[in-house]
Amino acid sequence: MLNNLPKKVRIVEVGPRDGLQNEKSIVSLEDKIIFIKKLRAAGLVEIETTSFVRAEKIPQMSDGIELYTLLDNTPELKDTKLISLVPNLKGLESALLCGVKDIAVFTATSNTFNKKNINATVDESLLRIEEVVKVALQNKIRVRGYISTVFGCPYEGKTSLEELKRVAHKLQDLGVYEVSLGDTIGIANPKQVSDVLEFLAKDFKKDFFSMHFHDTRGMAVANILTSLELGMTSFDSSAGGLGGCPYALGASGNVATEDLYFLFHSMGIDTGIDITKLADATSSILSKLHRDSPSKYYKAFLSSGQ
Ligand code: MG
Repeated sequence: MLNNLPKKVRIVEVGPRDGLQNEKSIVSLEDKIIFIKKLRAAGLVEIETTSFVRAEKIPQMSDGIELYTLLDNTPELKDTKLISLVPNLKGLESALLCGVKDIAVFTATSNTFNKKNINATVDESLLRIEEVVKVALQNKIRVRGYISTVFGCPYEGKTSLEELKRVAHKLQDLGVYEVSLGDTIGIANPKQVSDVLEFLAKDFKKDFFSMHFHDTRGMAVANILTSLELGMTSFDSSAGGLGGCPYALGASGNVATEDLYFLFHSMGIDTGIDITKLADATSSILSKLHRDSPSKYYKAFLSSGQ
């Protein structure tokens, strides 16, 4: 066991979008820019920064155009992949307006979840995605995909592996370069992760997927280790574990980038992260949100330096 670990892994930082979107306190444009610059200084080169959604729907993301434009003109972020979430053609218009180069589209394996989240069934959302990806690719924009509820749905419970395969194939056929597999409610366990990955391995290359775990039930690191054992090398996380869980109030959402760092770093796997600088990025945003981090390692590092 653990004899074939990779030398390095890739981490996609989702704190500024997925994290902040689920935080109640609204963060100013200036503080978002400081946070993103600090994340980049900490070695994170792929950062999900904003989403182009209707302002009244998600007020935290209402400054998307302004934020992206300012980030795009920040010299320190020149070689950074700044990813923006785009729900539909309207969102893509905004993305095109400010010269976005990387977007993400999203759907799920549960119709009930998708209806409640974006008022569309899975098939309806795939039609929207098809329109978005087509125009995005014509404009040389790279497209990442998210599939939510891969390991369970807050409304439907268990979700279908066949449906997962169908949706992943559809996204791949459309030209999405990578799909992030979301454990939306943090319900996955290592055996299930192994079953899902072995099922997908029959149809897809491993590097077509990134793993997006939530730590709601404290299983994220166990699930990440299982994924690693099965050859997965891309993981999504958010600095400090930003973003609560809308399906379990008061509980953790995204696994913290710090916890990933410690898991990998302690086993000699390179993440490219400077932990002192990452902790600085996390501290800066937490002070604006007036909240604590659920990350065990972040707290241990702050108090012991290791
Ligand atoms: Mg998430």
